[in-house]
Amino acid sequence: MQTNFTLAQLADSNTAEAEKILRTCVHCGFCTATCPTFVLLGDELDSPRGRIYLIKDMLEGDKPATEKVVKHIDRCLTCLSCMTTCPSGVHYMHLVDHARRHIEETYERPLADRALRRLLAWMLPYPGRFRLGLFGAWFGRPLAPLLRGIPGMERMAAMLALAPKSLTGPSPLDRPGVYPAEGPRRARVALMTGCAQQVLAPEINEATIRLLNRHGVEVVVAKGAGCCGALVHHMGQAEAADSAAQANIAAWTREIEGEGLDAVVINASGCGTTVKDYGYMLREDAAWADKAAAVSAMTVDITEFMSGLGLKPAVRPTGLRLAYHSACSMQHGQQIREEPKALLRTTGFEVAEVPEGHLCCGSAGTYNLMQPEIAGRLRDRKVANIESTKPDAIATGNLGCMTQIGTGTRIPILHTVELLDWATGGPLPKSLEGSAALQGRAANQAGIQAAQ
Ligand code: SF4
Ligand code: SF4
Repeated sequence: MQTNFTLAQLADSNTAEAEKILRTCVHCGFCTATCPTFVLLGDELDSPRGRIYLIKDMLEGDKPATEKVVKHIDRCLTCLSCMTTCPSGVHYMHLVDHARRHIEETYERPLADRALRRLLAWMLPYPGRFRLGLFGAWFGRPLAPLLRGIPGMERMAAMLALAPKSLTGPSPLDRPGVYPAEGPRRARVALMTGCAQQVLAPEINEATIRLLNRHGVEVVVAKGAGCCGALVHHMGQAEAADSAAQANIAAWTREIEGEGLDAVVINASGCGTTVKDYGYMLREDAAWADKAAAVSAMTVDITEFMSGLGLKPAVRPTGLRLAYHSACSMQHGQQIREEPKALLRTTGFEVAEVPEGHLCCGSAGTYNLMQPEIAGRLRDRKVANIESTKPDAIATGNLGCMTQIGTGTRIPILHTVELLDWATGGPLPKSLEGSAALQGRAANQAGIQAAQ
């Protein structure tokens, strides 16, 4: 694509980077077919190519963002399906990140929008505040159906509907500490325990630590590490995102320089995509660039790490039929596709491929709160595709997808790591307690034994 930036504009390194990306786009339109918002809405401006044109026009003309640009960029899920499809290697993620920063700097959003964004950015990255917010949401939850029908209250209704019905207390394993390897130590890793995940599903980090320890891996939950910064990053709040990144990099660098680390392990693929991009985010910051690049280079998803390490054989017959939902941040953001399914198959699960697996479930960070109508349609489509495979349970590697899909189906949904932990010696995951498929298998087994 031809661009017309002035030399003065290109002196800004972010604009220069955006220009480089724009020039790689050859307007072929291949990406439109796999873009969830184009598939649903059919509007070119809600396709990657359309958004690229809007961004080009805004940046080239040094224009403040308009309502039209904001509308179509806000509708983008940042699912990155377009990056997987693009034959020219257009780095849409870095381009849209830059556009969002520009929007944040030049566009005054309506008051209600600003207030909601501030509330989410203040609350979600901090487990204590989030817990308090969910406590408040319980009281409002019965009002969700009523609010859904009131214009302007749809987002509030979506927030209340997504609040879980019950919460467990904080897990002691999320506190900073060292969790020793069982047997001879094969590796030492830092685990990112995240923010919302600690509150909504502490069992995921617990299962991850057990699985790693059982495989001879010492796990460090580093003091000072917290939210990855993705939430504010996708809102265009660069300063807040950078400072979240710096806190994590500082915490893990202390470990690298202390007892050493073989990897930074992440079990939420949305966070993994962001941490793997720290090197790019902080590339211009002389104090942080090298450390950020080093952390990004050693960051792996838990399924990448376990594939490299090798799984112990399953200690129990698992046998469940799983629909594996590949989160966008897993398959498009990190290009991890086969490892999670291979690990599940190795431990005896039957893994079904989900039709239209490349399409987003509508979770996308806070997208399901900010764009509830589109997110709801995507969730229903995803659930119908998953249910068509007739699974006993759904496995995925990202908490956001678990929450989103879980509101649309009665089929148990759980993290891949919970299944791998159970198969190799951990407790039965909470979501499988009372599973009809497991009870059926147990009854069959009892019948066979009685017959013998
Ligand atoms: S597929 Fe790539 S090159 Fe083609 S229009 Fe989309 S972003 Fe541009
Ligand atoms: S990131 Fe996803 S929603 Fe956004 S333009 Fe690309 S494919 Fe479409």
